Amino acid sequence: MDFDWTDQETAFRDRLRALLADTLPDDWERFSQHGPASPALTRYAESFCGTLAEQGLLIPHWPVELGGQGLDPWHQTILAEEMWIAGEPRGGQYMNVNWIGPTLIRYGSPDQQARYLPPIAEGKALWCQGFSEPGSGSDLASLRTRAERDGDQYRVTGQKIWTSYAGLADTCFLVCRTSDDRKRGISILLVPMDTPGITVRQIPSLIGEGDIHEVFFDDVIVPVTARLGDEGQAWEIIGYSLTNERLGIPRYALARAALDRAVSILKAQDEFDGEAVKIEAAHCAALTEAARMASYAIVDRRAKGEAIGAESSSARFATVMAERRVCEFIVEYLPEALADAHPYLKMHHQRGIVAGIAAGAAEIQLNIIATDVLKLPREPR
Ligand SMILES: Cc1cc2nc3c(=O)[nH]c(=O)nc-3n(C[C@H](O)[C@H](O)[C@H](O)COP(=O)(O)OP(=O)(O)OC[C@H]3O[C@@H](n4cnc5c(N)ncnc54)[C@H](O)[C@@H]3O)c2cc1C
Repeated sequence: MDFDWTDQETAFRDRLRALLADTLPDDWERFSQHGPASPALTRYAESFCGTLAEQGLLIPHWPVELGGQGLDPWHQTILAEEMWIAGEPRGGQYMNVNWIGPTLIRYGSPDQQARYLPPIAEGKALWCQGFSEPGSGSDLASLRTRAERDGDQYRVTGQKIWTSYAGLADTCFLVCRTSDDRKRGISILLVPMDTPGITVRQIPSLIGEGDIHEVFFDDVIVPVTARLGDEGQAWEIIGYSLTNERLGIPRYALARAALDRAVSILKAQDEFDGEAVKIEAAHCAALTEAARMASYAIVDRRAKGEAIGAESSSARFATVMAERRVCEFIVEYLPEALADAHPYLKMHHQRGIVAGIAAGAAEIQLNIIATDVLKLPREPR
C-alpha cells in the first residue's frame, strides 16, 4: 500500500495554498470569527467562491458535463482539508459543493438540476437544511413538519430548529412528513426561502452571529415539482446526503493545524517544557492522525467505487474525539486564546465545541457503530 500523495495531488494542494495566501485578506483570522454564517462572512464567501469558480477550484470533483473536472475523491478531500485549515472561507457554500449539489445530481429532476446546479457551480447559491425539529434531532424519523398534498401542490406546516444559514439562504432542503409511515412517510421539498408563510428567527450562539435559527412554516404552498425524488424517498436520499456531509467536513485537519499553532505559540513563550504539556500535545496529535486515517479509509473506498456504510460513523466519531481533545488542550494551556489573543485558535474553538452534535450527535454514531459495524445486540441479554 502506498500512502504517499501523487505528484498531481501535491501540485493541487500547493495550488490551493497559493490561492489562499494570495486571496484571503490580511486580517482574515480575526475576520473569520464573525462565524461561518454571519452576514459578513457570507458576503465574503460569495466573492471568494466566485474566485474559486473562475479558477476551476469550486467543483473540481463534479462531472465534466456539469462544469467540474471529474477529479477523484482524493482531490475533493484535499480541497476540503485546505479550506477547513484556512477557516472555511467558502462560508455556507461548502455544503452546496459537497452534498447538496451531488444529491441534486443523483436525485434531482432535469428541471431542478437546470435551476439549482448552475448557481452552485458559480458560487452564488446559499442553501439551508431543514432536518431537525424541537424533539426530533437524533430521532429524525419522528419529525412532524407536515406537507399535505392538495392537487399539484403541498401545503407545509411545522417548525424546524438549529437550521444553519437560514437567515440568508435562498433555498431550503426541507425534510417533511407526507404520510404517517415513520420512515417511508418522509419526503424532501426544495423550498425557496422567500415563499410566503416562512418565518426565520435567529438563535444566539457561541459559534458566531447568524449561525442557527428556528424556521416556521405556516401554510406554505410548494408545488409538487419541488419534491426531490419520489414521495417517501427521503430516507434513502438523506442517507446519501449525510455520508457526503460527514466526509465533506475534515475537522481533523483544522484540529491538527490548531494544535500545531498552539504548540508553536507555547514554544515561543517558553511554556512547552513540562512533561505534562508534551504528553498531552502528543495525545492530541495521535488522535488527529487517527481520525485522518479513519477518514482516508472511507475516501479510499469511495475512490474505488465501493459502497460506504456505517464505517463513516467511525471516522466521524474519531474526528469528534480529536477535535474535543484539541479544544481542551487549548483551554488548559492557552486560555488567553479564547479571549482573543490568538484569533485562529478561537476560530477553531468556535467550530470545535459543536463537533459532537452538529451533523448528528456523537453518541448516535456510537449506536450505529455498535449495531451496524460491530453487530452487537440492541438490548442487553
Ligand atoms: C452548530 C449546529 C448547527 C446545526 N445545523 C443544523 C442544520 O443546518 N439543519 C438541521 O436540521 N439541524 C442542524 N443542527 C441540529 C443537529 O443536527 C442536532 O442538534 C443533532 O442531530 C442532535 O439533535 P438534538 O439537538 O435534538 O439532540 P437530541 O437528539 O435530543 O440529543 C441530546 C443528547 O442525547 C443523546 N442521545 C439522543 N438519543 C440517543 C440515543 N438513542 N442513544 C444515545 N444517546 C442519545 C445525544 O447524543 C445528545 O447528546 C445543528 C446543530 C448544531 C449544534
